[in-house]
Amino acid sequence: MDENYDIETLGVRAGIERSQFNEHSEALFLTSSFVFNSAAQAAARFKGEEPGNIYARFTNPTVTMFEQRLAALEGAERCVATASGMSAILATVMGLLSAGDHIVASRSIFGSTVQLFNNIMARFGVETTLVSPTDLDEWRRAIRPNTKLFFVESPSNPLTEISDIGALAALARECGARLAVDNCFCSPALQRPLELGADIVIHSATKYLDGQGRVLGGAVLGSKELMEGVFTFLRTAGPTLSAFNAWVFLKGLETLKLRMDAHSASALQLANWLEQHPGVARVYYPGLSSHPQHALAMRQQRSGGGIVAFDVKGGKEAAWKVVDATRMISITANLGDAKTTITHPATTTHGRLSPEQRSAASIGDGLLRVAVGLESVRDIRNDLARGLDAL
Ligand SMILES: *Cc1c(COP(=O)(O)O)cnc(C)c1O
Repeated sequence: MDENYDIETLGVRAGIERSQFNEHSEALFLTSSFVFNSAAQAAARFKGEEPGNIYARFTNPTVTMFEQRLAALEGAERCVATASGMSAILATVMGLLSAGDHIVASRSIFGSTVQLFNNIMARFGVETTLVSPTDLDEWRRAIRPNTKLFFVESPSNPLTEISDIGALAALARECGARLAVDNCFCSPALQRPLELGADIVIHSATKYLDGQGRVLGGAVLGSKELMEGVFTFLRTAGPTLSAFNAWVFLKGLETLKLRMDAHSASALQLANWLEQHPGVARVYYPGLSSHPQHALAMRQQRSGGGIVAFDVKGGKEAAWKVVDATRMISITANLGDAKTTITHPATTTHGRLSPEQRSAASIGDGLLRVAVGLESVRDIRNDLARGLDAL
């Protein structure tokens, strides 16, 4: 598709391949295998001499349309879709690393990603060093001769710390490593890591790409050369995206830019209001000028995104009161949904950390994380005010 189309247009139209019926909406191909016209064609397909579908663990036309659309949105040569965000991360490390390789990763990444690196990849001889998302010197000091991958999420969860993607990309290049960015919190509507110098973009499509909390999926994006290794792992090992889920994501991408702009606008209003509230000690939101990396965030991102975290005065008891006083907001750790969600990280997503680890990561007992949805911001504010005003 024409490279000059804007994000809004690419989200609606990129990657469409029509069948013989010339359908307008993208078709859902519920088939596990594909038929050949002759023995010779079957042989040519299997040899890779003729392009085309063979079996849905390798490719499926609906999945291919989703991959092409997301690749256009991220400005990537190639996208490989996966069954979940975690299988996207697994396919990246299994596709690109070998025993004896070393990963440097931000400490502020998704909990299951830390488990995958520390407890599973370590068993296969891939070691990981965790470092501060914001201190470039820590990254530099962690580099070893066998460092092959830098891994970061920006903004981070739940404190919305911002990593300098361009600076990390330059450092990775210096030591011959690749930089992978989990772009889940921003989506390509707000941040395009490849343009900032990253080599690989990873998504949990489960979140904002779907946008309505329906299905699981993921994606890895980057150069054709890098994605060949990721795809080879995927087609062999099998955590491929289902056609139905790809079709749901195609519909989700059509509204991605509209939704992300709305999430961001409401989150900024909510963050401003929370900052003025006497029951709130501190607000973490990259769109606020009080955010320590506000300037960097505004260089990297189109806007602040939909995630707001804040410290309630009065610790765990007060935070739980705010959660339990809500009537509309969903108490769930998920994010990227049209429905606003609230979570108390210290006792849920980060509950397995020791109190010392939590305090080192600044996850206080009064911290709450809100993933701002698409309801009216007035209603979201009133639902939070009920608990906050009563403190
Ligand atoms: C949810 C999430 C993942 C994992 O995605 P799944 O689709 O649940 O496997 C990875 N990274 C981030 C930042 C996430 O929020």
